[in-house]
Amino acid sequence: MSEFDYDLFVIGGGSGGVRAARVAAGEAGANVALAEEDRYGGTCVIRGCVPKKLMVFASEFAALPSEAQSYGWDMSLGEFDWPTFCGHLNTELDRLEGIYRSLVKNSGVDSFDARATIKDPHTVELSTGETFTAKHILVATGGHPVRPDLPNAHLGLVSDDIFHLKALPKSILIIGGGYIACEFACILNGLGVEVTQYYRGAQILRGFDDEARGLIAESMKEAGIDLHLGTNILEMAAAAERPKGNTGGTGSDAAMGASVKSSEDLLPSTGEKGEAVWVKASNGKEAVFDAVLFATGRDPNSRDMGLEDLGVELGRRGEIVVDEYSQTKVPSIYAIGDVTNRVNLTPVAIREGMAFVETVFKSNPTPVDHELIPSAVFTQPELGTVGLSEEAARDQEEIEVYCTSFRPMRTAFANRPDRVLMKLVVSKATRKVLGCHIVAPGAGEMIQLAGIAIKMGATKEDFDRTVAVHPTMSEEIVTMRSPMRSA
Ligand code: NDP
Repeated sequence: MSEFDYDLFVIGGGSGGVRAARVAAGEAGANVALAEEDRYGGTCVIRGCVPKKLMVFASEFAALPSEAQSYGWDMSLGEFDWPTFCGHLNTELDRLEGIYRSLVKNSGVDSFDARATIKDPHTVELSTGETFTAKHILVATGGHPVRPDLPNAHLGLVSDDIFHLKALPKSILIIGGGYIACEFACILNGLGVEVTQYYRGAQILRGFDDEARGLIAESMKEAGIDLHLGTNILEMAAAAERPKGNTGGTGSDAAMGASVKSSEDLLPSTGEKGEAVWVKASNGKEAVFDAVLFATGRDPNSRDMGLEDLGVELGRRGEIVVDEYSQTKVPSIYAIGDVTNRVNLTPVAIREGMAFVETVFKSNPTPVDHELIPSAVFTQPELGTVGLSEEAARDQEEIEVYCTSFRPMRTAFANRPDRVLMKLVVSKATRKVLGCHIVAPGAGEMIQLAGIAIKMGATKEDFDRTVAVHPTMSEEIVTMRSPMRSA
């Protein structure tokens, strides 16, 4: 008989927490409980990857009729109905949440719909007033989007709000140049919203390969997104209350003054009043938008849980500091996923959860492998990437760069200007492929497979001796004979 109520208490029912709980219970036979204060599935399922990807699919249909016409189809673009889409989306999210709940239940985990705080290294207190003891506590509470520290910033939406809009705005200003900013810029543009994007840096998608970033930025502008680099938001106010002397539409920018009227239809279902927003940019220009979206990063959900009081170390943004086994400074408390702000991706949180179970419940100490993680940015076109960018690789060692950019067959036939990019960054010394960067429709699907070869340590010559699949875009990845440059 254990001295604790549970072997493991998991806080957070997102991808990482649910996986750790059910593997610990189902495979390791542990006595496990899990508390979730919101919906099961976490950011990924409820307000992130899944609804976002379904919105990507919805937005891509906009380009289909004109392309189909080039192929001989009599097809025209009808109206997009946001409420219809949202109805189907919510049904799907309910279905997925149900699956998550039953996975937890069927693996014998006790689940609690409650907020949990940690009272001492082995005690969890729930918002219901119940307390439970556990030999191990796993914090998997994820993160949340943040607004910049700016007067009236509450007037801006964050990514969570997008899925609750009653109607799409006519115009939107997106602040930021990361994953979320660029993905939503493309999605909303595809759905017919006039999109303006301000990014404070010199090029969007900081940290990714420069050539890939350049092509995505060009493609986004080509598609009609009004992208302003080196530009940030300076001031904002409700359009009706903009500072005196400001007209809200003084220049040539397409979005300026485009829709000054306050849109009652825009009310988020949170009950907050949706109103047009006046914005002054760092370049001095002013404009009014139906909505502003802050895609300015996410912070870990680690505050007000009692962690600091127990001696669990938090970093500058509130991330829980853990070692390679996801263990905090308090030996009985572990943390995985976005709350640790290591690599904030769903499959990584799941891996961290599995490694935690191996280490703690299967006597098999398993450090989390964060090397060569393939990932995709679902812009249009998509970016698929694994390994080092050209810039990071050349700081490390001598490299060769194999690269090609071309118009893909499908859209070239329809006379569209789209270009794709295939790029390999290769070590001169070992011939290993250090990085692969693909900008193309379906790049997310391609990079998953390229990622296997690269994780196995494939050399450029391994790629070369693989026969091309013809006619495809990805065949170019095995047919690039001469380096474009060395560095
Ligand atoms: P990111 O950190 O990727 O991007 C934040 C952006 O906001 C950056 O461009 C940053 O600029 C800018 N920014 C930050 N603070 C300010 C400010 N005060 N004023 C103006 N701009 C500001 O965060 P995201 O929110 O886009 O995404 C969070 C994480 O979620 C990602 O890192 C990723 O791990 C994950 N994610 C993954 C997806 C995928 O796999 N497809 C999709 C969506 C999210 P600067 O570059 O100058 O710092």
